[in-house]
Formats: sequence, C-alpha cells, structure tokens
Amino acid sequence: MVIFKKVSDLQKFISLYGKGGHDIGFVPTMGALHKGHISLIQKSKKENKLTLACIFVNPTQFNDPKDYEKYPVTIENDIELLEEAGCDLLFLPDVREIYPAGTRQERKYDLGYLETVLEGEFRPGHFQGVCMVIERLLTIIKPHQLYLGRKDYQQCMVIKKLTELIGLDKIVKVRICPTLREKDGLAMSSRNMRLNDEERKTATVIYKALQNIKETIRKGNTQTVTNNAKKLLSENGFKPDYVEIADAASLQLINDWDGERKIVALIAAFLNGVRLIDNMELN
Ligand code: AMP
Repeated sequence: MVIFKKVSDLQKFISLYGKGGHDIGFVPTMGALHKGHISLIQKSKKENKLTLACIFVNPTQFNDPKDYEKYPVTIENDIELLEEAGCDLLFLPDVREIYPAGTRQERKYDLGYLETVLEGEFRPGHFQGVCMVIERLLTIIKPHQLYLGRKDYQQCMVIKKLTELIGLDKIVKVRICPTLREKDGLAMSSRNMRLNDEERKTATVIYKALQNIKETIRKGNTQTVTNNAKKLLSENGFKPDYVEIADAASLQLINDWDGERKIVALIAAFLNGVRLIDNMELN
C-alpha cells in the first residue's frame, strides 16, 4: 500500500496511474478502523482497479470539542488492517493539507430539510463540516465510486446531496454499504472503543430497541413503539437524543404510518458520555 501525506503527491499519482480518478474507489474514514470500514474497502476492491482509503479526523465536523479530543487514534493498527485487506492507497493528510486556508467555513451548503432533523438538529454544524471535508476530498481525488456505510444513514443522504450541490453527481457514484455488526448486534463503530466492558455489554440495547420497533410497529400511530424504545434505553442508563421513525427515502419524520411507505428507525443515544447512533430499515 502506498501512503500519501501531501495532496500534491496524491494528485500526481492519480494523474499518472489512476486515469484522473476513473479507476478509483474511494473510502473516506476517520480511522480507528474496524471490520465495518474494511467491508467498504473489500467492496471497493471488487468494483475498482484501485482502492484509496483516507484517514482524517476532521475537526470541522465535531460540534463538541471534547468529542474531537477523545476521538480514538490507532494509526499503526489501521495501516495493518488496510494492508491485510489489500487496500492499494492511503491518504493520510494533516489538518493544514486539507484546510490550507484554515478551518473557517467559507461556503454554506444548502442541505435544506436534512440539516433540520435528527443528527442535523442535535449536532448543529456537523453536516456542514462533513460537507467541507468531503468536497475537498472529492475535488482532490474525483473518484469513480465513493463508498459509504448505511450506519450513518443521514450522512449518506447528505453526501449524495453534496455531490449534486458541487456538480459531481454525474462523476462520482455513491455506493451505500450495509452496516456491519458485532455478534450481539451492536453496530461496529470507532466510538465503541471508548466503552468499558460493562458499557460495551449495555450498548447492545440500542440494537434490541431497534429490533423491538421492527417487531411491534403497525400501521397507524408510531408513538407507542418509539416511546417503548426510549423507555428501554433510559432504563439501561442511556440518555437518548432521539428515537424516530422516518421515511426511508426522504427522512421525513413519521408519527402516523400508512403501513406501506418504506420506513427506517433511527436512534442516537449517549451512554456515559459516548454518543452512539444506529438505524434499521423496518419493511
Ligand atoms: P467513520 O470513520 O466513522 O467516519 O466512518 C467511515 C465510513 O465507514 C462511513 O461511511 C461510515 O458510515 C462507515 N462505517 C462506519 N461504521 C460502519 C459499520 N459498522 N458498517 C459499515 N460501515 C460503517
């Protein structure tokens, strides 16, 4: 695996070997890699000549500075995992390389409704930061395909919208991959590393809550199932930000389900200061 730290070196390589990005599958990450990330690498490897991973803990997407400071960094292990997975290229920039003019936002992305609900509501500015880094990376790399995990359901929609806003939607194909889970159902996440043994066992309650929703939801009012899920989370020591049912395509929140629309349940909850998110398609 070839590692690039400088934008100019990476671009030189791409213009020589990557046919200007046409052969490249791109997997952006914030590191502390796990099998969920690696599944994206594997998918990209099947579908592209070259697979490029990026590890960059993006400061502009952390609305809570403490969360940024505590974000796990395991770079040596990450490189090993990427090597094992057969990843071809790794982009490992520092903050100045990504934001040469500083991290102040110059352009506001019009994400509309998506920025007003769920993660948008509870993490103000978060998606603006995500768009800043992804625009920069896509402009540098212009990959043929971009691999994202459904674990970050709303982020997938935001990034799709971003590709339209910046005129790259015809160039970069967004590929959304399934959420990888631990044996007990907990969605794999870099933040799980911050849980102690006890918390780690408790964390699976999020998955149970999603499963309960899936099993009990019926046409009509959805409040009872979401309230039950909130109760289950609270009884187990979580502080939920939200438990919502939403239209799977638009993320419009649904309180009264017609029994037919495709819907998804989404949860964000703190467990002793660690914020975990997960979602499940319900039909
Ligand atoms: P992150 O490093 O958390 O920014 O995640 C980088 C990419 O990996 C994003 O597209 C995530 O949605 C994806 N991802 C994170 N966790 C999982 C998982 N458990 N299964 C599949 N993809 C994941």
